[in-house]
Amino acid sequence: MTTTPTNLSLFVAGEWRNEGRHLEPVINPATGETIALVPYATVQDLDDALEAAKNGFEVWRRVTAFERSKVLRKAADIIRSKAEAIATLMTREQGKPLPESRIEVAVAADTFDWFAEEGRRAYGRVIPARNQNQRQLTIRQPVGPVAAFAPWNFPAMGPARKIAAALAAGCSCIVKPSEEVPMTAIAIAEALEQAGLPAGVLSMVFGVPSQISTHLIASPIIAKITFTGSTAVGKQLAKLAAEGVKRNTMELGGHAPVLVFDDVDIDQVVKTVVAGKYRNAGQVCISPTRFYVQETAHERFADAFANAASQLAVGNGLDTGTQMGPVANPRRIQAMDELVSDASSRGAKVRTGGARIGNQGNFWQPTVISDVDTGAAIMNTEPFGPVAVVNPFSDIDDAIAQANRLPYGLAAYAFTRSTSNTIILGEAVEAGMIGLNTLLISTPEAPFGGVKESGYGHEGGIEGLDAFLHTKSISEM
Ligand code: NAD
Repeated sequence: MTTTPTNLSLFVAGEWRNEGRHLEPVINPATGETIALVPYATVQDLDDALEAAKNGFEVWRRVTAFERSKVLRKAADIIRSKAEAIATLMTREQGKPLPESRIEVAVAADTFDWFAEEGRRAYGRVIPARNQNQRQLTIRQPVGPVAAFAPWNFPAMGPARKIAAALAAGCSCIVKPSEEVPMTAIAIAEALEQAGLPAGVLSMVFGVPSQISTHLIASPIIAKITFTGSTAVGKQLAKLAAEGVKRNTMELGGHAPVLVFDDVDIDQVVKTVVAGKYRNAGQVCISPTRFYVQETAHERFADAFANAASQLAVGNGLDTGTQMGPVANPRRIQAMDELVSDASSRGAKVRTGGARIGNQGNFWQPTVISDVDTGAAIMNTEPFGPVAVVNPFSDIDDAIAQANRLPYGLAAYAFTRSTSNTIILGEAVEAGMIGLNTLLISTPEAPFGGVKESGYGHEGGIEGLDAFLHTKSISEM
């Protein structure tokens, strides 16, 4: 059954706009069907959003943290009240199974609650002064209007993390979600509007990403940039930000190593990592990808991993029982094809998967490859899809060297029963986040961010609020 595509709108200066704009299709990755039309912002729309952000900042920074918190909490409640509808939109535009979309919507609402509370705790401090009659203190102030760029893999969490933290800090925000998944983001903007956010404090625009980022970042109105996406684009935006000496937070690519020692229960670990690897069809910047398994357990682990992956139910995310949906766009199919072919041509064993499923929708088999040459592209390029690599390591020093081999440093994981191993790995692995005997590392309360070319700054945790505040030092006599 084909349905008429929904006409979407930009949200600029408190108005929903779509008349006369260039439209691009939003495509359901499970069916190839056009489900919506997203309008592209004109230069005038961007200038209006900038003006609104400037004026909105003057309004919003003067609203007390206590009152701001009420708006954010109300938005969280509205999101929860519409959770099923928003989750369905998400699965239709991005492909992930409905249960994953439900969790993401719930965590997005929790993120608004978290920042609503943390915004009330943006404490300064009193500093003991050198002179009797002097007082020295610090206060935290919002950095100013923010330009935020969110990716397509987490249609709710991407925008929510940026918007919630910026607004809680007292900043105004222009957000550009991904044009490929606009509907979930629009639902979040609607919730904030309904919760009473003053007009202009938040604008949401879509368009050609490079044109929007160039225009917004160059504007003297924008004080802060926050971007989640590829390292290549992050480098470009960081350069643009440097032109205006603007603060920025960069959540970029990863290539997470998983170190599996032979002292663990292999079947148990396989259960955990299969669920983690194929979540969101592997399109997660912290997705466990480079598995290094102690050589005494390597063969058994690779076999069990491939066996469990081959049993996953792949299908339309709206269908009951689907464990992995399609990849979000045809670019990922092409990337998986190239990466797996390159690895095979260098002698890797394809243990399971390795091919596209059918020719309708972007379905790719859950894939496990092993014994992959270090020079293969997949060992060096983030696959961002449902492919895992399983290679052996000899001892803990070898495992650490493999884990740290790449210029990325976002997430890392290790499974071992040895406390001494966990202590050593916690210190030695170069990553912004490490999960020891768990893949669950991302919550609204915990800081999320990378080192090396995976970026800098944090989202989530108290650090996520800091990203939108600056510290003013006040000395008075
Ligand atoms: P891409 O590099 O073209 O785009 C990545 C993201 O950045 C997209 O959301 C896109 O809309 C945005 N973007 C691109 N150019 C931009 C610009 N000049 N200004 C502002 N935003 C811009 O690649 P893609 O095909 O969309 O995604 C593939 C790669 O991106 C993946 O391999 C992965 O490494 C990375 N990625 C990372 C994350 C993450 O969570 N860190 C999310 C999505 C994509």
